[in-house]
Amino acid sequence: MEHDVDVVVIGAGIQGAGVAQAAAAAGYRVRVLEQTAIAAATSCRSSKLIHGGLRYLESHQYALVHKTLRERDRLLRLAPHLVQLVPFYIPVYPDTSRRPLHFWLGLLLYALLGGLRRSTRFHTLSRSHRQRLPIRQDRLQSVFQYQDGQTDDVALTRAVMHSAQALGAELICPALFSSAEAKTQGVHVAYQTANRIQRIYSRVLVNASGPWVNQVLGNITPSVAGLTMELVQGTHIVLDNPAPAGVYYVEAPQDQRAVFVMPWHGKTLVGTTETVFKGDPARVTPQPAEIEYLRAVFRHYFPALSDQVTDSFAGLRVLPKLPGSLTARPRDTQLHPEPERVLSLYGGKLTGYRATAEEVMQKLQPYLPPVQSKADTRSLRLLPASGDD
Ligand SMILES: Cc1cc2nc3c(=O)[nH]c(=O)nc-3n(C[C@H](O)[C@H](O)[C@H](O)COP(=O)(O)OP(=O)(O)OC[C@H]3O[C@@H](n4cnc5c(N)ncnc54)[C@H](O)[C@@H]3O)c2cc1C
Repeated sequence: MEHDVDVVVIGAGIQGAGVAQAAAAAGYRVRVLEQTAIAAATSCRSSKLIHGGLRYLESHQYALVHKTLRERDRLLRLAPHLVQLVPFYIPVYPDTSRRPLHFWLGLLLYALLGGLRRSTRFHTLSRSHRQRLPIRQDRLQSVFQYQDGQTDDVALTRAVMHSAQALGAELICPALFSSAEAKTQGVHVAYQTANRIQRIYSRVLVNASGPWVNQVLGNITPSVAGLTMELVQGTHIVLDNPAPAGVYYVEAPQDQRAVFVMPWHGKTLVGTTETVFKGDPARVTPQPAEIEYLRAVFRHYFPALSDQVTDSFAGLRVLPKLPGSLTARPRDTQLHPEPERVLSLYGGKLTGYRATAEEVMQKLQPYLPPVQSKADTRSLRLLPASGDD
């Protein structure tokens, strides 16, 4: 039986878009199935940072930090209209649990993992510079400054999907994946569009359905166990304050977690939280206690500014279920290659989508025929999708 396509991807979040782009660039026939819209779920509810993740050094995730810092620099080159470096400020007070030496060593390691490029330089601010910052000045000891990337997560995901489509990938949206049966030579996939069941025969199937990953895997035969994971909600609030000139990386006085205070479309964005979530991923919503937690953090560092909330949103991290603190859980993508010809993606960072897609294509290689490649995502520029700036 002839295959209709080579690769079917479930989900048009950043990971699905990345895989579609990589597969289309490699020269394969790709169809993406998305139930709602591009970047409609987790990929529109991130902290919008394109970063290595300074705080992941505390949980020894050096490989992830190294990989995502490399991808950050690549995105700065390939999508300068979508990813920009912004100053990050880390204020230190006598009651900050992490001491200046801790930050200094962390930033040095971050710079080393980032290849000591110009973008990884850091320093402490002079007294006159830190007195001009809008943060609480009372007993302010020092402020570290470094740089990291910021993006618009929806625009980035659209641009990656647009790139995949320009290379020939087909996006079907809305299309609800319903079931699949993996056979020796290919995968029979069924999905629903406007009350009609469509069927397609593909060489491989990629499950990039984000928080729905195990639900989708449960509808694939032969049936296999999904990875043991937990959904961890992260909430952000938007405050009715003008955007700060940079990102503040502060320590929550309540529990010493890192919280970001960021510029976002002319306002102030504060996030995030870590709350175990159970239930339907489509129903994730900010909890009053999370909103109050973030407002209290903001008030602590910016007592002169308004903490009036104009908007809030919550997204779901897919994290391995492990004992111990949620903060220390590994954040890199896990690939689950079962049943044969089906690959499921668990978790990962917005920043690392391209590198993850490269790993996915390597895993799928045994099931795909040799074809003429069309482009290399390592050097392929991302253009704004139509309708974006
Ligand atoms: C609070 C928070 C903050 C974060 N901040 C950052 C950050 O600053 N920087 C960073 O690098 N990373 C960050 N991340 C991580 C990053 O946002 C996620 O890893 C990424 O967005 C996940 O993308 P995804 O494509 O896997 O999932 P999603 O974006 O959730 O996409 C999955 C898609 O699959 C579709 N789907 C599901 N089931 C079906 C079906 N049956 N049929 C058809 N379609 C289906 C859904 O509609 C959805 O569009 C953050 C994550 C969270 C939760």
